[in-house]
Amino acid sequence: MRPPRFSAASSFHSDLKLRIKNYFTEKNLNPTGNFTLYSKAIILVAAYIATYVILVFFTPHWSLAILGAILLGGLAATIGFNVMHDGAHGSFSKKKWVNELAGVSINFLGANVFMWKTKHNVVHHSFTNIDEVDDDMNARPFLRLCPNQRFYKIHKYQHKYFLFVYSLLYLYWVFVTDYKKYASKKVGIIPIQKMKAMDHISFWGFKAIHILLFVVLPIMMVGWLPWLIGFIIYGLATGIILSVVFQLAHAVEEAAFPMPNAETNQLEDDWAIHQLKTTANFATHNKVLSWLVGGLNFQVEHHLFPNVSHIHYPAISKIIRETCQEYGIPYLEHPKFRLAFASHVNHLRGLGRP
Ligand SMILES: [Zn+2]
Repeated sequence: MRPPRFSAASSFHSDLKLRIKNYFTEKNLNPTGNFTLYSKAIILVAAYIATYVILVFFTPHWSLAILGAILLGGLAATIGFNVMHDGAHGSFSKKKWVNELAGVSINFLGANVFMWKTKHNVVHHSFTNIDEVDDDMNARPFLRLCPNQRFYKIHKYQHKYFLFVYSLLYLYWVFVTDYKKYASKKVGIIPIQKMKAMDHISFWGFKAIHILLFVVLPIMMVGWLPWLIGFIIYGLATGIILSVVFQLAHAVEEAAFPMPNAETNQLEDDWAIHQLKTTANFATHNKVLSWLVGGLNFQVEHHLFPNVSHIHYPAISKIIRETCQEYGIPYLEHPKFRLAFASHVNHLRGLGRP
């Protein structure tokens, strides 16, 4: 399969881009992050380091250590959502080196920013919800996430066991899929950018630092078995939180899973309308959730304007909503987290039938 092509850009997209550009000019704002975002980044990174130090160097009672490992997983996910994600999109700061630094936070957490940029910025953001291309839709053979994917009998129960599969995401990513991408030089069917010598050194260097910080050092400090239990709990917590937040934006009943025309390899819509049909917001009025997930509950805004920092999404969502209404284009949203979650479960249940 070749990467599909989008239809020519519609007037909706050019009009929307102009309105958003005018918003930033009129308010005299920069679309990148600001002090609010930087202070959030400092709070999250400091909380992560403090939790790590307590767990590794102060050996708390096992019951507190379990809670600490879950908290560490939650903080890893929130650093991913708030710091790494904006940094890798280049929207964290005006300064390139600050974005690079924010992006590199993922390397300390065990994954690799070079691979992430292809998987996420290129593949997922361009070909959202297109089976065989969008790698975020690939949990085969365990889950059937879109109608085009092959049905296996086990999928009848996928709405019951999906959280178990999601919990493995982080560990599988850090210890398996990153290396698969490295070896195959591809994310699914899309080739990764050519790696320079520095990229190879960075890949192996950070993987070694991660093993040192999260395997060798903790085993030396707390012993083999307590480390194993703690690390698995940490990995599973990170995996569940990351997966649920990712999936509520695209794998819900209301989202479309368009496929290109078999002959022309062209999609029905232009890129912007495609994003709106395949992406859904959730719980955008929930301030605590919005703070924690780094605006990933404003996925419509994020998919249309990935180079705008998430701190501006509540404001620009009004403009996007109005423009969609004017043009008669869907704007998908679940008002509450539990409704988005229920829609995801229904989506999985629906795909659990051949
Ligand atoms: Zn993104």
